[in-house]
This record gives sequence, C-alpha cells and structure tokens, in this order.
Amino acid sequence: MSKYVEVMVDVPVDQVDRPFTYKVPERLESQIKVGKKVVVPFGRQRVAGYIIGELEADEEDFKFAIKPINKVLTEFTFFDEELLELAKWMSEYYQSYLISSLKAIVPSGQTKIKTKQVVKLAQSVAESEKLLEQISDRAYKQQEVFSFLIDNPNCNLSNTELADRLETTSGLIRTLINKGYLQYIEKEVKRNPHSHHNFKATQPLAPTSEQQVAIEEISAALEQQESSTILLKGVTGSGKTEVYLQVIAKALEAGKDTIVLVPEISLTPQTIARFKGRFGDQVAVLHSQLSAGERFDEWRRIKFADVKIVVGARSAVFAPFNNLGLIIIDEEHETSYKQEDHPKYHAREVAVKRAELAGAVTVLGTATPSLEAYHRTETGEYKLVELKKRIDDRPLPKVELIDMREELKAGNKTMFSQLLQKEIIDRLEKGEQTMIFLNRRGFSTFVQCRECGHVMKCNDCDVSLTYHATPNILQCHYCDHQEQVPNICPNCESIYIKYFGVGTQKVEEGLKEFFPEAKVARMDVDTTRRKGEYERILSAFKAGKIDILVGTQMIAKGHDFSNVTLVGVITADTALNLPDFRAGERTFQLLTQVAGRTGRGDKPGEVIIQSYTPEHYSIQFSKMHDYNGFYNFEIETRKFASYPPFTHIISIVVSDEREDKVIEVSNLLSDIIREKLHKLDEEGIMLLGPVQAPLSKVRGQHRWQLLLKGGDLDTMRSINQESLMKLNELSTLKTIKVSVDVDPLGM
Ligand code: ADP
Ligand code: ZN
Ligand code: ZN
Repeated sequence: MSKYVEVMVDVPVDQVDRPFTYKVPERLESQIKVGKKVVVPFGRQRVAGYIIGELEADEEDFKFAIKPINKVLTEFTFFDEELLELAKWMSEYYQSYLISSLKAIVPSGQTKIKTKQVVKLAQSVAESEKLLEQISDRAYKQQEVFSFLIDNPNCNLSNTELADRLETTSGLIRTLINKGYLQYIEKEVKRNPHSHHNFKATQPLAPTSEQQVAIEEISAALEQQESSTILLKGVTGSGKTEVYLQVIAKALEAGKDTIVLVPEISLTPQTIARFKGRFGDQVAVLHSQLSAGERFDEWRRIKFADVKIVVGARSAVFAPFNNLGLIIIDEEHETSYKQEDHPKYHAREVAVKRAELAGAVTVLGTATPSLEAYHRTETGEYKLVELKKRIDDRPLPKVELIDMREELKAGNKTMFSQLLQKEIIDRLEKGEQTMIFLNRRGFSTFVQCRECGHVMKCNDCDVSLTYHATPNILQCHYCDHQEQVPNICPNCESIYIKYFGVGTQKVEEGLKEFFPEAKVARMDVDTTRRKGEYERILSAFKAGKIDILVGTQMIAKGHDFSNVTLVGVITADTALNLPDFRAGERTFQLLTQVAGRTGRGDKPGEVIIQSYTPEHYSIQFSKMHDYNGFYNFEIETRKFASYPPFTHIISIVVSDEREDKVIEVSNLLSDIIREKLHKLDEEGIMLLGPVQAPLSKVRGQHRWQLLLKGGDLDTMRSINQESLMKLNELSTLKTIKVSVDVDPLGM
C-alpha cells in the first residue's frame, strides 16, 4: 500500500472541476495534510493545487499511471475539514466550481511569510561576555554595539535599525559579524496595519433592559451545544453594537472565537475602534484596503490563534478559526453581502451553514431585516429578538413627506422644497448640522438633444452617460469609460444639447448657491477615491467644520453624529424605478437608514423626504417607522407573485460580443430547459425568458437572461445543471459565456 492524495488543481479550465489523484513520494509523506498547497504535474505543466483528500492504495488499483506530487509548498494548511466542507456546500448550493470556492476561502494574492534579517549574538551570552573583553578599548564603538546585544539578546533589529539606534555604521556591525561575534538570523515578521493607531480602551456599558434581554437570549444560545440563528432587529440608535460587544465577551469567556461581518463601506477606523477599544490585540481586521501581505498576516494571526475575534467584510466569513462560537452579521440586509463573482454566495447563507458545521450561533443585526430573514423568524428557522427603543428613549425622528409635483405647481422649480430650504436655514442659524442624501453621483444623470431626443449613451454598455462637472466629462458608471461633452448632437448636429437629472455634484452646487454662507461638502465615490479622503471628510463633519454634507449611500451607513438634526432626501423615488422586485424593499431600507442618521444626540431629529410618488407604500411606511407594516404589505405581494422568500430564483445570463449568437444560445438553452420541465411535469417550476437582461450590454458584452423560478431549489439546480451540460454537447458556440446566479440579488 502507498499513500495517495486528491488534489484540486488551480487551472483556468472550466471542464475539470474534479480532483486528480497523485502519488505521495516517501520523502513527502510526513508533510501531507488536507488543506495544504502543493505543486503537481498537470499535462505538460506544473501547477499549484490544494489537497482535499488522502487515501491508501496499491499501484495496481489504478487504470492509469499515477504521477507523484512535486512539492509541498507550505507547512501550514489553508483550510481544515470544516472549511473544506463549507467550500463543497458552496459549490453545490451556488452551482460553481469547487476550485472557485476554495479560492474564495483561502487568502488571495501574496501568501509569503515575510522575514527580516536580524542581528543576534553568535554565541551564548556568557561566551559573548568573554569575547567582549578581547575587543580593544580603542574599538569602543564595537564594544558598545556588542554589549548592547549582550544586554538585549532578544531584540529583533536589522543591521540598519541597530546602526541607527546606536549611531554607528552598518559596516562596523558587519565587522563584528565577520569576526564571528554576531550573526544574521531570519526572523518572521507580521505586518500590523493597525499598529500606529491608539485605540481608546472602553468598558462595557450598563445595558438597557432591552439590551439585557438580547444579551441573555444570545448567551443562552451560546451555551447550547448546537447551532442557531438569532435575528436582532433593533431600530437605528438602539445600541446593537453594545449587544455584540457583550456577547463577544461571553464567547471569549467560553474560549470561543467570533467573526464579525460588517459591510465593506462601514469598515471604517471608527468601527474598528469600537471592537479594538473593547478587546484590544485579540482583534484582527480583514478588509480590501489592506495590502495582500497585510491581509495574509492578519489571516495567520487568526489561523494560529493569536487573536480570538475578527472584524471584516463579506469574505471574513471564511476566517480560519478552529473553535468558532459566534458569527455576527451587522446590517444583515445589505446587498454587499452578496458576492458578484463566482462563487456568487451570500454571506448570510454561508454564515448560517458554517455555524451549523461548527455548532456556532449566528446573530443577524439590522433595523430593516431582509424579507428572507424576517420571514424565517415567522417559520421558526430564526429566533427574533427586538430592540424597539433608542438609547435614552430618544425619539425616532419626525418624517415630513413633500410631494414634489405640488412644489412644481406652486412655482418652485428648484430641487429643494420650500420646507427643506426653511429647515436648512434654521439649522444654519442654530449651528446644527444637515445631511442631504441622493443615490446618484455626478452632476446630471443624462444628456439629451432637445431637437431629436438622442441620449448620449456608453458605446459598450446599455446605459446613459453621466455628466460630471469636475472634471468636465461624460462618464459611464459601469465601465468607467469617459468622453468629451459634445457641443453638437452627434445624431442631428443640433446645438440644443441639454442636461437632465440631478446628481450629487449638482446638489452640492445648488446648496452653495442657496446658502452661500454655509460650509458644504460632498461624499461619494468621486470625492473619496484617494486614500484617507473618506476619513478626512467624516472627521471634518464630526468636528463641526462642515454644516451640510451631501452624499450617496456612503453617508447612510452606520455613522453616529450627535449634532445632525436634519436629514433631507432629494428624491426618494430613484430606487423605486429599478426593474427589480426588491425595489420597494430597497427603498424602505434606504430611507430608514438615512433617517436613522439624525436625532442621535440630545436634540431631536427631523427628516424631509421629497418624492414624486409619496403615496408609495415603501415611502409611507418609512415615514411612520413601521417595519412590520411594510413587511406585512410586501410579503403579501411576494406571495401573490411567487417571489422569494416563497420561491427561489436561478438567473442564467448568456453573454457575448455577438448579439445574434447570444440570442441563438439563449433560445437553445430555453428549449432544452422547457423540454425537461415538460418531461418532469414540474408545475411548480417556471422558466421566464429568454429576454434581454435589464442591463442589456456591459463592456461590449450583450446580455440575455433566463430565470428559473420555483419552490424546489434542488430540482431547479439539477435541471439547470443537466441543461447546461446538454447545451455544451449541442452547441458549437463554446466560447459564449453562460453565468449562473442562485438566489440573485437585483435582476
Ligand atoms: P445601532 O447600531 O443600533 O444604530 P449604536 O450601537 O450605534 O446603535 O448605539 C447608539 C449609541 O448609543 C452609541 O453612541 C452607543 O455608544 C450608545 N449606547 C449603546 N448602548 C448604551 C448603553 N447601554 N448605555 C448608554 N449608551 C449606550
Ligand atoms: Zn439631435
Ligand atoms: Zn460603459
């Protein structure tokens, strides 16, 4: 019997999503373990791969000659059995390749351990002391360096660091090395991206009675030996974070590890400080702003149990803890928890699955639960715990709805209603702050010829170009394509080109015009591109150096400013016009989050929502802060139209540069699926399409879409899988991209 391993090779070949067997040479036997990265022969190349299984077998058991692995790359494993199990589940659930799932859970980019050459004594301290006496007094600098190391044998200084410290030259230190007194040693170093921050230590706050109940419920779940999910539904400003902190402390007491997920955009120094302030060095942070090296070092701190808590964005759900007790997902409803590349997973679903494998507790916190999550509290899958009141019984802000159609009738053609203008002036006089929200960046959202109606569109995407006043250009928000603003219509050569639609730049300019004495700033993707800008704007706002802050979603998230007493929403309707069955849900969530930014201090807050459809239920319920009213209305609609959470959807997008081929393949696939549905007599599963996708062209790729909708996801997945295989057999157009998204967010 000899030893063999199953290896998932990391090659960009779509069809080989299965492990390959390799023989383990005797010299490598002791190094073999599931989760290790290896180099193996593959065809004529050598490629990297991950071990996912071990077996004992005889040479004769195989039909083919089995090649040996070349090399084991690491001493540590990239994943354990639990994470491997999770990766397999992810591949199955989201119908994506196992190698993609594995690559999603291992650290990406650089995975080299950084070392530095440090100067150490070449002999023991006692020996060195004897040697010291042999150095002549004239070489007093050599004596000084040598005695420093005798006194500090554990310091880890490189040659230059040592030379700087003792005000000498690296040449002198090299002399001591050449004499055999000192030596170089390779030392592992971990980059710590937060070492320069000083986090102010915080003590647990005395919980309110509602917080107390929540903490007890979650603690009780932690003590249970099985996994469970708790939805912590707490209005904005109800102190959810304090609940997280206190249950993390419970997990720590029990010797368990915690993963905290927050939306990427909320992973600010303020957020990190809340966790580091309470738990200090026990916290690692994972987010995309870290360099690959820094991320790998944080990953190792988790892997080797230097830390017990990780705070991170979506992919931190794969943090390599081996004693996981608690997963917290803040702002559970956020769409950024869905991964856009394969595997197209949702962090909530992955978290719940991982907790199941680890016997851990998942806590989902939000003021506006996704319909999926809240529905599961009704079916008993999740337990519901509520925080209904704000801290100190602060009232939720008063919300005024303004019908912009009426404003126009009354002769107000500006983008600010009479009431909003009046209230902004009032805040400026009182020295209080205002936030103005709009979810479109740029100046004007489209440019149109008044004579022939031609709209300037991106050549590669099916979207209109947005006008940006600074710099003076037209920009595509999908592919970043930029072009000059035309003076004459490219279609009819008319000079009557006009700008329509309002973006954040225009609002900023409008505010400066209306309130010349006010200090106005803008926060969106364009003003925060440079590193540190986001932080700078927020701290200036916090310090009161800005009176009015205009922004996109970026200003809606989690910030806690006590002097903000007015929030204005320029148009509540923009999200409602999206071709998506979740448009109403998105609007309700967004308005509630934006409104939540005000009245968080001692002064009460006010919200002014401007809208062209103020009668819409999402807007009406958000005015009343009535999540349950909204939910009851929305869930009926979903039930009636057979939408999630009552069904699942699998979206299949066919794309290519050649539109005729896209249509051909879409139709072929549709015929295959329909035939299967017919044969199975599956009435509960529907096929919609093929139709042009709502975003019908991106970066030059035409997109057509098919949707499978039904209650039985397993059957839907196997129909889909078999159909795609059949398509592969039948179609000569193998280069056409077919992309599958299970439980898509946004159509
Ligand atoms: P949420 O995340 O629910 O919107 P936060 O966690 O931001 O709310 O809490 C709102 C504010 O209340 C924060 O400034 C927080 O420090 C404070 N806070 C939370 N819990 C308590 C408490 N038990 N006693 C006093 N202040 C608290
Ligand atoms: Zn024209
Ligand atoms: Zn484009």
